Amino acid sequence: MSAAQQKRDYYEVLSTGRDATAEQIKQAYRQLALKWHPDRNRAPDATDKFREIAEAYAVLSDPAKRQAYDVTGHAGVSERWSTEDIFRDFDFGDFFGGRFADLGSIFGDLFSGRTRPSGVKPQGANLRYDLRLTLDEAARGGERVIHISRSDRCKSCAGSGAKPGTKPVTCTDCRGTGERQQVRSEKSMRVITLTTCARCNGRGIFIESPCAACKGGGVEFLPHAIKVQIPPGIDHGMLLRLPGQGETAPGGGSAGDLLVRIYIQPHPLLKRDGDDLYAAAQIAFPEAALGSKVTVPCLDREAVRVSVAPGTQSGTTLRVRGKGMPRLHDQGKGDLFVVIEIKTPTDLTPRQRELLKEFARLEAERKKNPSASRSATA
Ligand SMILES: [Zn+2]
Ligand SMILES: [Zn+2]
Repeated sequence: MSAAQQKRDYYEVLSTGRDATAEQIKQAYRQLALKWHPDRNRAPDATDKFREIAEAYAVLSDPAKRQAYDVTGHAGVSERWSTEDIFRDFDFGDFFGGRFADLGSIFGDLFSGRTRPSGVKPQGANLRYDLRLTLDEAARGGERVIHISRSDRCKSCAGSGAKPGTKPVTCTDCRGTGERQQVRSEKSMRVITLTTCARCNGRGIFIESPCAACKGGGVEFLPHAIKVQIPPGIDHGMLLRLPGQGETAPGGGSAGDLLVRIYIQPHPLLKRDGDDLYAAAQIAFPEAALGSKVTVPCLDREAVRVSVAPGTQSGTTLRVRGKGMPRLHDQGKGDLFVVIEIKTPTDLTPRQRELLKEFARLEAERKKNPSASRSATA
């Protein structure tokens, strides 16, 4: 069944020793890739050869994958990484320059689900963290450190699960395939039953002396302090994604992501609408009628003085430019809108009452004889 069984040893593919340096491996790949690239080599098996060479190099040029391959062989690599994972960040080599434009056509079908080996461990789970910010913090942005506990590759055994100094060995019961064959003869037929190997639980490798720190699981649960960069102007409900900061995959696949969801606490005095802020300002009726200045709260406990023109009505909105939220990933800031509310006095002194009555009397007189009052005020 397994393609892994037919696979040649990666070192053999690149004709290097097991102790080859990264540079020697690169040199070997370079020579072979140039020789076997299907654009240069018309041999019918050139594409297959080139793929084999590229895959060997993709694994051996990545320290984590090379280590996994050294320790657990093809079975261990295919258990941890899909073909897609192996080539995900792989650089085919700058030495191709623009000459080989069509690498996609060679590797295209590698990326279809068809070639993903069965039994490949999925990516680690994504973690979610709810980060609460005040509106001022959202405006300022900057670095925040968050504390999470998450599973991580065990440090003692580098995730292999084997006691330091030992290595997982290929399971002898299934010879690394993870499957057991039972062959029975029924009448004239041979019946082959495949079952998951009980000794290694289908992993194909067996840990004889488990790592004490992780009890052989290759994973430990640790507290982490993670720096999160908050862009100024971030809004409620936005999600920041930190790739690779999620859970480690139990089988050693690539780690999940950490998703930080932003919650912005309501501000006691300011309301937000996108980049703009809204504040209410209460003024007394004479201030609205005669004009005045009001003090309006804005971000970071600052305040701005806003002029209210004579004759301002309740509900009038005044704009203060550039006193809103910073524009996310952009220059400048939104505006602050001040909504004027006219407060009706409720606890008048006798003198105030007297003056207001006088005012009302004059107002009634003016309505009876508009032309006289207009000339009087002019
Ligand atoms: Zn361990
Ligand atoms: Zn086994």
